[in-house]
Amino acid sequence: MTTATRATRHRLSADGVPVGQAWTGRHLLDVDQLTPPEIAACLELAVEMRERRERRERLQTLAGETIGLAFYEASTRTRVSFELAAGALGATVVDLRPDASSATKGESLLDTLRTLERTGVTTVVLRHRAAGAPYLAARGTGLRIVNGGDGAHAHPTQALLDALTLRDALGELPGRKIAIVGDIGHSRVARSNIHLLGALGMRVRLAGPAAWVRDFERWPGVEVHRTLDEALRDADAVMALRVQLERGAGGGIPTLGEYRRRWGLNEERMRLARLDAPLLHPGPTNEGVELTAALAGAPRSLIGRQVTNGVAVRMAVLSLLSGAT
Ligand code: ASP
Repeated sequence: MTTATRATRHRLSADGVPVGQAWTGRHLLDVDQLTPPEIAACLELAVEMRERRERRERLQTLAGETIGLAFYEASTRTRVSFELAAGALGATVVDLRPDASSATKGESLLDTLRTLERTGVTTVVLRHRAAGAPYLAARGTGLRIVNGGDGAHAHPTQALLDALTLRDALGELPGRKIAIVGDIGHSRVARSNIHLLGALGMRVRLAGPAAWVRDFERWPGVEVHRTLDEALRDADAVMALRVQLERGAGGGIPTLGEYRRRWGLNEERMRLARLDAPLLHPGPTNEGVELTAALAGAPRSLIGRQVTNGVAVRMAVLSLLSGAT
């Protein structure tokens, strides 16, 4: 059976075990490893997971598995939603808490992960400040690795939940224009979204201070705009990104105030986009910098919806990986 036919045959047993369907990869390192049918299967399964979660069903998809959370960088949404997703699928969850682990005594990443493996952990969701850390972990241990965000490189589950949120709001995505605005250079969210939304047929526009969009002109399929207005004009959706001060973003702009004046989103600027064009932000926001509080709370803001979809998408991801060898 081919990958395509396997991935599109979408069915769940009564206790939530995907039947006749799995991703072919053993790990989820970034979205560029997924075929179009695998992306479609994930989004479909996430919708089903969302409904089953709303009905408060407890699934047994991962009964007997132990999932480790190893977040070497701060996280609220990703960590909590993976924990809830794993629990809702019947897995046992252990949170490594690197700041309270032997990592503080100098233990290497691989030694720590191998220790987890020996305790019976089967899958680790890894977040790390070093781009590529999940790839190293996938090669250097017997664990299944899910990338929960590596440096400025990739954040695959964020892109999948953004795609689901956009599909909820816009229906069909092919040909739709999305403006991704802000600190693109330091953003793993932007990189994974450029791949995924492009693969789903969206037209991706980028806009931000010159220092943060510099290398993206060469990326296939993206349009880089020099002004915010140009990028927003007739956009079907808009995604704002957080200014990543912890990754040295401050060096690319004079001050946050100046960033806000030139690139910050507000309701007036959003009028350039299509009527009611949805607004996304992966969170957390720098309050009042990337967007005004009024816009964050406006009906077109899907920031809360993104968080809710995050749990369903992570349930789908863990389920689809569990079938792969
Ligand atoms: N939460 C997202 C991430 O971990 C976005 C951000 O932090 O700005 O990449």
